[in-house]
Amino acid sequence: MLFRSGAGKGTQAKILIEKFGIPQISTGDILRAAIKGGTSLGLEAKKFIDAGELVPDSVVIGIVEERIREADCEKGFLLDGFPRTTPQAEALDGMLHKMGRKIDHAVNLAVPDEEVIQRLLDRAVKEGRSDDTEPVIRNRIKNYNDQTKPLIDFYRGKGLLKEVNGLGSLSEVTERILGALNA
Ligand code: AMP
Repeated sequence: MLFRSGAGKGTQAKILIEKFGIPQISTGDILRAAIKGGTSLGLEAKKFIDAGELVPDSVVIGIVEERIREADCEKGFLLDGFPRTTPQAEALDGMLHKMGRKIDHAVNLAVPDEEVIQRLLDRAVKEGRSDDTEPVIRNRIKNYNDQTKPLIDFYRGKGLLKEVNGLGSLSEVTERILGALNA
């Protein structure tokens, strides 16, 4: 599980799923696919994403619950960008408990806010994401600090937190994550 947007979490997630042979569940990717497909979920989610707001908990919790029940998740899965709020983390615990499963690790890729802003602005130029404009990015950072950052303590308290320095080359960061996972 990797928390932070603009810290390279999506890229690192792709490397890890290859290595471990498990699916990546990215709520951001699922929401962007729904927007592209013009579904009602997509229409609802777009308003929030374009404003740099988090999509309501009930929406993302439902998406994840449905996805982790699929057969390819039986051997494990990597959550990318979920949970992002305490209610999401509590709901995740609840759904896994019902399934007789649990989280093994929670990885926080630590990158300073100013570095995240710069990386997201660079990505905006490369990928043209509608939520990568400066005011929206600043709002995402604010929401991260208010709503997502408390999860660091939440998972530390459960003894699951792996804090990884997200600065450095792609392969350096991958090595650090694998080291933190003892993999
Ligand atoms: P990401 O690609 O993970 O940075 O997600 C892009 C955007 O999708 C976020 O800025 C949120 O608006 C929305 N999003 C993705 N995952 C979640 C989540 N777990 N909870 C709420 N909103 C989310």
